[in-house]
Amino acid sequence: MTDPFDLQHIWHPYTSMLNPLPTFKVKRAYGATIELEDGRTLVDGMSSWWCAIHGYNHPELNKAVTDQLQNMAHIMFGGLTHEPAIELGKLLLKITPPSLDKIFYADSGSVAVEVALKMAVQYWAALNQSAKTNFITTRSGYHGDTWNAMSVCDPVTGMHQIFGSSLPNRIFVPAPQSCFDGEWNPQDIQELKQQIEQHHQTIAALIIEPIVQGAGGMRFYHPEYLRQAKALCEQYNLLLIFDEIATGFGRTGKMFAWEHAQVEPDIMCIGKGLTGGYMTLSATLTTKQVAETISRGEAGVFMHGPTFMANPLACAVALRSTQLLVEQDWQANIQRIETILVEQLTDLTQLDHVADVRVLGAIGVVELTTNVDMKTLQQQFVERGIWVRPFGKLVYVMPPYVITDNELHYLLAQMSEVVKNMQGANSNVLA
Ligand code: PMP
Repeated sequence: MTDPFDLQHIWHPYTSMLNPLPTFKVKRAYGATIELEDGRTLVDGMSSWWCAIHGYNHPELNKAVTDQLQNMAHIMFGGLTHEPAIELGKLLLKITPPSLDKIFYADSGSVAVEVALKMAVQYWAALNQSAKTNFITTRSGYHGDTWNAMSVCDPVTGMHQIFGSSLPNRIFVPAPQSCFDGEWNPQDIQELKQQIEQHHQTIAALIIEPIVQGAGGMRFYHPEYLRQAKALCEQYNLLLIFDEIATGFGRTGKMFAWEHAQVEPDIMCIGKGLTGGYMTLSATLTTKQVAETISRGEAGVFMHGPTFMANPLACAVALRSTQLLVEQDWQANIQRIETILVEQLTDLTQLDHVADVRVLGAIGVVELTTNVDMKTLQQQFVERGIWVRPFGKLVYVMPPYVITDNELHYLLAQMSEVVKNMQGANSNVLA
């Protein structure tokens, strides 16, 4: 099953080289189907970690890449520019918050976050407030694996314990507790308020994933939190950074999650679904005011410029992917997926070992009472012809938007069977 060379020599995400988890070799993928080397096919529930929104091997996206290849695969962005970067930029400005006006293309989600944090520090330095270099964020957040991105991830479930004092100290407040469609509890914002009141002179920005905290716990919180957080940022001179890397491109039922609260950030990071999962590309967008302030500072420029900035192949496929999304009735499609997720997952709440079931847009989450055994569960999912990769207490899906009703029913039925049969399950409840 697992390729011997792969097993011995190739590192996979968050994996031990002494006791690696098994990997399944993929021969090809198309639509919402993953075909393994041994001929088995799996219905994809993961969109390759949020990004393959139009499914795999999409003829339009393939064409965008091959057409662009005829011109150039890459060209440096220092001193040069190109049509794919410009056209993509025009489209992005149409679908992101109206106040965002300047686009910085970067290589990955984590780098987009680094860029956002650097923008915030340079902004305050340009305003002669160079004490404002720290960041405040909520617990249960996730913003990537590079150094500063890691420093604003949840300090318990994130990597703080391992990296210890090598990480900069950030200010953490409790994760918002009021649920997305529940009652707003005013207590929720109190700690953020207190910490900002106390430390605002040293804080450059609040960074937060709007509405959905992804890899930090798949939590959906109340839009009022963002409205009040924005008011505090304005009152105490903090920039507001939204990390929309996971939530973007329709996943939560809105094009971007800020729309649930109608709160516009000063800086916003996007990635993942940007290229429809074809290749790595991200962007950090900001307002005219932030960009111009940075440019008036002592350095006179924004200090970042990666080698593969605005890679033309990535921009060309991102442009086509985003066009494909906006050209269709994507809201109705996400609604279709949401309805099926609710219909098929809600009953699982009756199980003793299920703590919660929640659905938002094309995201379905089953939270268990204890951590799952990823190796066993993944094997069972594959045997049943589905691709679902759980973590911690969470078994969750965010399928490609092209998934058919039949495929989605199959995916959820098989996933539910595995959850019902888990050790400790009260198998009578859902019989
Ligand atoms: N922010 C969020 C909210 C994410 O979900 C992720 C990826 N899981 C990142 C940042 C980092 O993106 P990347 O893996 O592309 O570096």
